[in-house]
Amino acid sequence: MRAQPKASHFVDGEYVEDAAGAVIESIYPASGEVIAKLHAATSGIVERAVASAKRAQGEWAAMSPTARGRVLKRAAEIMRERNRELSELETLDTGKPIQETIVADPTSGADSLEFFGGIAATALNGSHIPLGGDWAYTKRVPLGVCVGIGAWNYPQQICCWKAAPALAAGNAMVFKPSENTPLGTLKIAEILIEAGLPKGVFNVIQGDRDTGPMLVNHPDVAKISLTGSVPTGRKVAGAAAGQMKHVTMELGGKSPLIVFDDADIDSAIGGAMLGNFYSTGQVCSNGTRVFVQKRIKEVFLSRLKARTEKIVVGDPLREETQIGPLVSRAQHEKVLAYIEKGKAEGARLITGGGIPNDFSGEGFYVQPTVFADVTDEMTIAREEIFGPVMCVLDFDDEADVVARANATEFGLSGGVFTADLTRAHRVVDQMQAGTLWINTYNLCPVEIPFGGSKQSGFGRENSAAALEHYTELKTVYVAMGPVQSPY
Ligand code: NAD
Repeated sequence: MRAQPKASHFVDGEYVEDAAGAVIESIYPASGEVIAKLHAATSGIVERAVASAKRAQGEWAAMSPTARGRVLKRAAEIMRERNRELSELETLDTGKPIQETIVADPTSGADSLEFFGGIAATALNGSHIPLGGDWAYTKRVPLGVCVGIGAWNYPQQICCWKAAPALAAGNAMVFKPSENTPLGTLKIAEILIEAGLPKGVFNVIQGDRDTGPMLVNHPDVAKISLTGSVPTGRKVAGAAAGQMKHVTMELGGKSPLIVFDDADIDSAIGGAMLGNFYSTGQVCSNGTRVFVQKRIKEVFLSRLKARTEKIVVGDPLREETQIGPLVSRAQHEKVLAYIEKGKAEGARLITGGGIPNDFSGEGFYVQPTVFADVTDEMTIAREEIFGPVMCVLDFDDEADVVARANATEFGLSGGVFTADLTRAHRVVDQMQAGTLWINTYNLCPVEIPFGGSKQSGFGRENSAAALEHYTELKTVYVAMGPVQSPY
């Protein structure tokens, strides 16, 4: 098997196996071929991983932030040196084209390690509070053992987005990747050790929805950061609340992208395509409801159709491929079912709408698909599809489109394309979402906070704000004189 790792889990600085765990087959989405066989963590592996994190965390937190940051920055350098190898593994894990993974996956993971490695020495300071004669000070202290649980669309990036701020702040982490993409994060664990991370500070264990709760409910776990769907988020946040644990929830979306008739149309089409087709549409923040002002609707659609039909769909390991397969057979079936639902509910199919002719036999391919005349009530306009399916809706009036954009349980992201500066800011100000873009879409550099509102979750990843979610404040009151007691 061409991507078989040394063992399923990475615990306390080394690969470990427990063949008693349920078999997880790693399937290359482009061919359906089994490329590795791993085992889900047994309760014994979960215990070992949490115990090693707990033991290692004290030593790690006792190091100076500068020394911790040095390790993370070295790991970022190693990831960049091995970008090609890590990107190919990410492509095998996810089916995303190498053209993307080479620029967006290990590199964004490395950005995160470099950024948090760099700010560790300055962003964790507390404050001094004068109180007349007395005074107080605050410290930012790590939470302890944190659990990261990942989705399958950006396995290496998600792992680093969680591990980098957690480790920079002096926590230890046990990370569980999605059962669909078990391979890449093991390499990140290896690289962190090579960079000088003490054994046990970062551990990877495999598993699925039965394994996750063992981590979430473990009494030695202080925090869970989940990237996943809203239903999973509800379960994890509910379990964590029962034990008063910290949580960060990075969940799903059905985000609006509003294109006004004064926008640069070609740029807006580019933004809409990136926000629907990148990673075969498997991006949480995608602008899957594209509201186009009526005056430019048909021009927008005809140019969009022409550009969409030029997209190169194919073998993700070929450099020229722009769209690869979906991650799994289950996701393939789900996306095709939504496309059929769109047709049945009366949306106008502009292009795509099924499996590409060349790929009817193997791999989980779907044509990049555009529906027009989509209405707010249609299933494809309300539910997250997580595939390359763009829904174009139309509008006349600004206030009306803002209300429709907000009429969803989700609140992850949104965007607006317009040449009118005042309108751009007025509209994003009213949009109910955690991350918004003006005249672009889906750019998430590590310097800016990312996260959702409403059912899309809470907490923020990236930027110095992420450190707040991996630390808590300790306040110390210092009396400078005798106690004044009435007793
Ligand atoms: P999912 O919710 O099915 O699974 C996510 C992870 O949770 C997996 O590792 C899974 O094994 C684990 N899990 C499932 N049930 C669990 C439980 N009860 N307790 C603990 N862990 C459990 O999501 P998915 O299908 O892997 O990913 C797609 C979803 O993720 C989409 O909804 C997408 O929008 C969302 N997503 C969000 C972001 C973000 O940053 N907001 C980023 C990527 C993906």
